[in-house]
Amino acid sequence: MTIVTTPAAARALSERWRRAGLRVGMVPTMGALHEGHASLIRRAARECDRVVASIFVNPKQFGPKEDYARYPRTFPADRRLCEKAGADAIYLPSVAGMYPPGFATTVRVGGVSEPLEGRSRPGHFDGVATVVAKLLAAARPDRAYFGEKDFQQLAVVRRLAADLDLGVTIVGCPIVREKDGLALSSRNRYLSPEERERASLISKALRSSSSLASAKKMMLAIPGAKVDYVALVDAETFAPPTGATRRRRLLAAVRFGKTRLIDNVGVSW
Ligand code: AMP
Repeated sequence: MTIVTTPAAARALSERWRRAGLRVGMVPTMGALHEGHASLIRRAARECDRVVASIFVNPKQFGPKEDYARYPRTFPADRRLCEKAGADAIYLPSVAGMYPPGFATTVRVGGVSEPLEGRSRPGHFDGVATVVAKLLAAARPDRAYFGEKDFQQLAVVRRLAADLDLGVTIVGCPIVREKDGLALSSRNRYLSPEERERASLISKALRSSSSLASAKKMMLAIPGAKVDYVALVDAETFAPPTGATRRRRLLAAVRFGKTRLIDNVGVSW
């Protein structure tokens, strides 16, 4: 397993691969890796000749009251998971290396980044778009893999890659869930046993509803949960669905104490 820690080293590694005619896949993560991340790496390994997973807890995508400081950092286990899932390299940049003194650029994606997560977490998607642009610029993958777990983030990244002519194919991957339906998340470990049990009701509400009203009603009935939003949007534009909408997505964000969980499903109604 090769580990590179600077943008220049990530660039050199990927250039070496590409000069040898190898297709490069990238899986950007914040670490605390689980089966959801592993599914992305395995998919990348199937579709590409070399895979680099990045691990970077990006301070720019956390709000001042969010969990940046306590976000789990589990590098030894992450490294083993990357290896087992088929990654060839880990790109592990430092905060100072990514954002050296004088760093002054913000990448802002309009439209899709504005509602829902964009409204609840001001600045979040600017942080995401900025770091993803930097990661893709350093590693120059042919394909980059993102989970539908963060469905709006996936839409933001697709827009970013298209608008900036990055020449990378963005691949969206299905959500990996626990047996009871809870979407795997690095933040699930914050939940108390009681909250963990109740958290499975989020996906149940999304998956068993046949209208936005019923999804909201079920979500609001989850004991101990504070509902941030439940929304139905056009899966491409994130605007309210219209007659012309081809795919609809039902999304929710729910808090248990300080822990904020998100989930979403495709719906045909
Ligand atoms: P994170 O480390 O939370 O920033 O996530 C890194 C990537 O893994 C993102 O593209 C996420 O959407 C994806 N991911 C996280 N959890 C899951 C999951 N349960 N299923 C599929 N992909 C996931």
